[in-house]
Amino acid sequence: MQKYINNAEEYILKTYNRYQIVLEKGEGVYLYDMNGKKYLDMAAGIAVFSLGYGNKKYNDALKEQIDAILHTSNLFYNKPAIEAAEKIVKASGMKKVFFTNSGTEAIEGALKVARKYAYNKDNTKEYEIIAMNHSFHGRSQGALAVTGNSKYQAGFVPKECVAVFADFNDIEDVKSKITDKTCGIICEPVQGEGGIYPADPEFLKELRKICDEKDILLIFDEVQCGMGRTGSLFAHDRYGVKPDVMALAKALGCGVPVGAFVVNDKADGALVPGDHGTTYGGNPFATKAVSTVFDLYEELGIVDHVNEVGAYMGKALDALVEKYDSVKAHRGVGLMHGLELDQPVGEIIKKCMDKGVIIINAGANILRFVPPLVIEKEHVDEMIAILDGVLAEM
Ligand SMILES: *Cc1c(COP(=O)(O)O)cnc(C)c1O
Repeated sequence: MQKYINNAEEYILKTYNRYQIVLEKGEGVYLYDMNGKKYLDMAAGIAVFSLGYGNKKYNDALKEQIDAILHTSNLFYNKPAIEAAEKIVKASGMKKVFFTNSGTEAIEGALKVARKYAYNKDNTKEYEIIAMNHSFHGRSQGALAVTGNSKYQAGFVPKECVAVFADFNDIEDVKSKITDKTCGIICEPVQGEGGIYPADPEFLKELRKICDEKDILLIFDEVQCGMGRTGSLFAHDRYGVKPDVMALAKALGCGVPVGAFVVNDKADGALVPGDHGTTYGGNPFATKAVSTVFDLYEELGIVDHVNEVGAYMGKALDALVEKYDSVKAHRGVGLMHGLELDQPVGEIIKKCMDKGVIIINAGANILRFVPPLVIEKEHVDEMIAILDGVLAEM
């Protein structure tokens, strides 16, 4: 394994400090490294692998698609993209879908929709987007511009997209940032990378009101919190607040790189032929994954399952807050949880990995739990036993 790690450091651009593990295979909610060591997975490839590893129907659907056709370009129609788009539209009650290759690109598209919507109204060329402090939306120039975290922006503050930052869950702050140039508000219903912070229901309702009054677009970034993660198919369903544009990715393809932005009736028509495009986006392989994911979510009752196991996990994490002074807080919903410690969590993560459970962080002091959505209560017990042991040791 060390030989591969050395080669990685020699040939792959070092933009990550990786864990010293080469993962080789997955089975259900377990991962195996090159040495055959088994890990219980509480990360799911960063909230991606909802269905767990090696789901036979999912794998078979993709194998079949490889043999049929992998790529067509968007100059032609392809069946999986049409089927996947119909499933997203019907599940969300929104209007139209644009497929991308990643979450970042879904955000880029969403920002373009907001900008063009404003432009179509009054030919305005100057515009601002209101984004939230501690948000994360991606690493490209536009997505980075609305990412309210100096950790990601330092040295790269983009000039392409003008973002104005307000405090998450502080509606007065948002109101104070509105100007004539504001063309949209972007927000994660549950902040992920920022440390697992769910929005207050009132906050999202007020954002909706502001956007209606000002005739600007409300963008929800559901890249991490969407696709069943919070115990409803889309996180905004829990809040009863509809966005004008929604960005999806991560679990949308459950392992195949794919994202999408979805527009409602109001935002539909902002972009016209020629305004936006992609070579790979919506290709039949990626969209076959999306279409199959929707089928399997229904067949397996994923959303109900998340509510049941998620509540169980929430209680178990609450108990750790009670038990240890060093564990400051638990936040989260469904199977998206954060445990805030009074110190950096790197050492805890490493000890957990040694003992066979993969837990990642979200910010320096926060352990993040975003397991495959098919985990069972017994897996939660297994994880808690190991984490409890590590916390006790420390
Ligand atoms: C991961 C993430 C993104 C970026 O998605 P990529 O697929 O990494 O480009 C955007 N927004 C949120 C909320 C995310 O969690």
